[in-house]
Amino acid sequence: MTAIVWFRQDLRLDDHPALRAAVNRGEAVVPVYIWSPGDEGDWAPGAASRWWLHHSLFSLDDQLKRFGSRLILRSGTALDELSALIGETGATAVFWSRRVEPAAIKVERAVERMLSARGVMWELFNTSLLHDPATVRTKSGGPYQVFTPFWKALQDGTEIAQPIAAPRQLAAPRKWPKSLHLEQLELLPTPDWASGFGLMWSPGEAGAQAQTKRLLGEIADYDSERDRPDRDGTSRLSPHLHFGEVSPRRVWAQVIAHETRHRSGPSKGALAYLRQLAWREFAHHLLHHFPQTPARPLRDQYSRFPWRRSSNDLRAWQRGLTGYPYVDAGMRQLWSTGWMHNRVRMLAASLLVKHLLLDWRHGAAWFWDTLVDADLANNTLGWQWCAGCGADAAPYFRIFNPVTQGRKFDPQGRYVRTWVPELSSLPDEFIHRPWEAPAAVLRAAGVALGRTYPHPIVSHEAGRRRALEALSAVKVR
Ligand SMILES: Cc1cc2nc3c(=O)[nH]c(=O)nc-3n(C[C@H](O)[C@H](O)[C@H](O)COP(=O)(O)OP(=O)(O)OC[C@H]3O[C@@H](n4cnc5c(N)ncnc54)[C@H](O)[C@@H]3O)c2cc1C
Repeated sequence: MTAIVWFRQDLRLDDHPALRAAVNRGEAVVPVYIWSPGDEGDWAPGAASRWWLHHSLFSLDDQLKRFGSRLILRSGTALDELSALIGETGATAVFWSRRVEPAAIKVERAVERMLSARGVMWELFNTSLLHDPATVRTKSGGPYQVFTPFWKALQDGTEIAQPIAAPRQLAAPRKWPKSLHLEQLELLPTPDWASGFGLMWSPGEAGAQAQTKRLLGEIADYDSERDRPDRDGTSRLSPHLHFGEVSPRRVWAQVIAHETRHRSGPSKGALAYLRQLAWREFAHHLLHHFPQTPARPLRDQYSRFPWRRSSNDLRAWQRGLTGYPYVDAGMRQLWSTGWMHNRVRMLAASLLVKHLLLDWRHGAAWFWDTLVDADLANNTLGWQWCAGCGADAAPYFRIFNPVTQGRKFDPQGRYVRTWVPELSSLPDEFIHRPWEAPAAVLRAAGVALGRTYPHPIVSHEAGRRRALEALSAVKVR
């Protein structure tokens, strides 16, 4: 007898209840990954995510091989491929981890129907979240739409289940079903524009564990360091969490265990970190309850918002050529590494939706294609938060000043100098506002505005005024 484990965004062996359930049956286990971009609706993995996925699948297969097992790779719809695999293996059970994306849920339902019709036992597990979204409710029984009470409920409510260890053994079937080679999935970009990614990232479970270990060593400082893009003060676990190379339960439990070992209770840094994991949880619960939000504002009155159209402005923003050094640094960091610091994501998003008045969905789509951690729940929450149209969103009339933000979070301009090298010789005073530098200073730094670096795409004052006028036109306050 054989059981299939259908891997999805849970590319690990540790804390994997679906894998554990299959192993516990004491039968052969066939681990399967199905590349099915067509199943994802409008949100097939973007180019940067595919790069990550390629390496993560390689790593998972490698790990499975150490147990005498392997990863079967297929391409097609999950429904067709699972159906074929049941025929090929004679599997009597299928186990998998639940996802919250609406298209993924639709596929799950179709797979469940197919399995039931064929008399195959199936079970799905929550492995990607701290809690099942259906179980975290406000006193009136609805979903939380404000973060602070959600965070409080998480701390006061049902305990987070303890993570479970990876299995020690995986029984192989007598005959393996057909598998594609990883290269046949064609996940890597051609030409290879992602060559820089490998310098920064180690996709796979071992990479996730190494990153978690690094986090624990520095966690006491997380609270003071996390807002500084010029330093390496955050965990960079987001792509590992998105692809499920580590479970949030595991990270949570390790943080608590670390703090108990080294201190009497969680440090300020540790609590601030757990709070960020709770934002991830909040985003996923919201997507579960409001599946329309990747395409539509949660706050309906924003559907009437008078967005501008300007492909030139959009392109300038995408390429990191807005003339605002701090924003441009972020957009170029994104292009080069597949990641951008959270503070800069907030500012870059704000510039797009407020100063440029371009629809947040354009920004979300660009991030989707270029982030290695592109995640439908987190990306939707992040963009709707910045656009002021989502749950617990920043009010639309609060408009970040890109210069003030740069000076506050990158005071010596180190971040800008790294990613916008044409400005690197400017003195600190003007690094975030080159257009205000005297001509002699610009000359000495080798900066010719309009030639080596653009003028601001719109002045902060004019952008701010235009955004507020647009806001009053639809009277959303
Ligand atoms: C416009 C915008 C778009 C975003 N798009 C994504 C996205 O597609 N994928 C993604 O994972 N995050 C997204 N974020 C959230 C956040 O920027 C990243 O999670 C964070 O920068 C990842 O870096 P880190 O792992 O070092 O974070 P850390 O500071 O170490 O945080 C730990 C973990 O908590 C979670 N987290 C942290 N901040 C948030 C947040 N604001 N919302 C939800 N989860 C959070 C992440 O899983 C992260 O790995 C977006 C934020 C904004 C403002």
